[in-house]
Amino acid sequence: MKLEQSRLCGAYYPNPLCYKIEWQFKTATGCDRHQLRLLSDCPNCGARFDVPALWVDRWCQRCFIFFPELVNWQRPMENQLEN
Ligand SMILES: [Zn+2]
Ligand SMILES: [Zn+2]
Repeated sequence: MKLEQSRLCGAYYPNPLCYKIEWQFKTATGCDRHQLRLLSDCPNCGARFDVPALWVDRWCQRCFIFFPELVNWQRPMENQLEN
């Protein structure tokens, strides 16, 4: 099974082992728990997030930003039509 793309919600941390598998396969619009859009790449450096197994490090592999800080870049789901 290959994961083409990894999505995460910064607000979902610090519990990195509890991501939602459906986020990775479906066209999920956002995290229904926090009402935030999911991130598929690092908003700080642009690096594509790797497979969830690597999320245990809890920071971007390129710029080392801590994942919980990514919530600052996540937009509320109701603003997604603006894009
Ligand atoms: Zn969330
Ligand atoms: Zn980064």
